[in-house]
Amino acid sequence: MNTTLRSSLRLALVLAPLSAASALVACAPEGASDLMDGAQADAVEAGAPVLAFGDSGEDVRWVYGYLRQYGYFANEALAHHYPGWKPAASREPADPEVFDEAIEEGVMLFQKAYGLPITGAVDEATLAAMQKPRCSFPDFYTSADAAAGSHNFTLHGSKWSKTALTYRFANYTSDLSQASIRNAVSEALFDWSASSPLTFSEVSSGEDITIGWYTGSHCSASAFDGSNGVLAHAFFPSSGGDVHFDDAESWSTSSSSGIHLETVAVHELGHSLGLAHSSVSGSIMYPTYSGVNDAPRDDDRAGIWAIYGAFSAPSPGGDIHAGQGLSAGQSMSSYDGRFQLVMQSDGNLVLYKLTNGSVTPLWATGTNSAMPDRMIMQEDGNLVLYKSSGAPVWATGTSSTANRYSRLVVQNDGNLVIYNQSGSPVWASNTCCH
Ligand code: CA
Repeated sequence: MNTTLRSSLRLALVLAPLSAASALVACAPEGASDLMDGAQADAVEAGAPVLAFGDSGEDVRWVYGYLRQYGYFANEALAHHYPGWKPAASREPADPEVFDEAIEEGVMLFQKAYGLPITGAVDEATLAAMQKPRCSFPDFYTSADAAAGSHNFTLHGSKWSKTALTYRFANYTSDLSQASIRNAVSEALFDWSASSPLTFSEVSSGEDITIGWYTGSHCSASAFDGSNGVLAHAFFPSSGGDVHFDDAESWSTSSSSGIHLETVAVHELGHSLGLAHSSVSGSIMYPTYSGVNDAPRDDDRAGIWAIYGAFSAPSPGGDIHAGQGLSAGQSMSSYDGRFQLVMQSDGNLVLYKLTNGSVTPLWATGTNSAMPDRMIMQEDGNLVLYKSSGAPVWATGTSSTANRYSRLVVQNDGNLVIYNQSGSPVWASNTCCH
């Protein structure tokens, strides 16, 4: 290496495709002028590994320290704070300052966890990933019965034994008004409740999930590290599900400055509900922060469904509200019982007319070949059919700000209609009138 790791780190940040928000956060301690140093840019060839097998020195120790902090090597603090935790790597380096087989294995596991090319060398993309602000929840922390197969999300194997959960704020950050904090956290909770049977309500005592802001050493959790680096962490249901935010960060509800609270909250609450980190870049449960990302992706939905199922059985009546839906085999009827909407196990969503023992289909999505097995009336106003993998198959395309928190109604006249909060119809099956 003909340059120090510190200057290489700055280079990695310049070269990596970071969003403006994350680059701003990650680079702040070094100073913006350092990032523009042309001499440093000439020092490292594009694509060349910055550190690789056989290298030694303080830079290797830094990489070892990073990997140790996030779950790759033996770490007493992680073992203490996360029950059942084991290091991801199979062995320890003989010397933390020598890039040996153990550190190479740690780097390869890190690259796997982040969806990077698995080379075992610390290249620029790997360095950039290590420099991003992140959640301090350890990578690869899962139980022996964690989900396997085609999904990328991982489960801890711990879940809440009830679906009606409560939360309480232990304190607040002074960066935002309490109303803004409440709004951001309730939006994050809605992202999870809209894809599951879970409901959340705020209480003043006796809560399931406690949410608060802390600095440095706090409570019984691993210490926070000041501005940047670790942003937050949370505990699995079996450890209480609490969420801690680092109050040394600048918390924001804006996409242009500071750390976006709702984005970090929806990630941490995923841990509170039993999800570990995902290797799918762009998913909510990816370990690092890259700016605003507050909508669960296919992999996130598939993860929460694997723990809690899609929905509880719909209550009797002709309408369902935002966040509710139908799983395969479930149905909802009009108030007079003459019409029934069925999420069929063959993948079709069908509206039937029921008359004196005869059943007549009036309308269907025709989605049986794609095999969706659940329907959701989403918070964003879209009615969507999903496969169990989390992939959408069919939608009404009615997502809009004006249509948030709409409801779906099977009407007594045989029409299937989505109404927004103003009471205006925004979509219909046009099967009126029978
Ligand atoms: Ca921090």
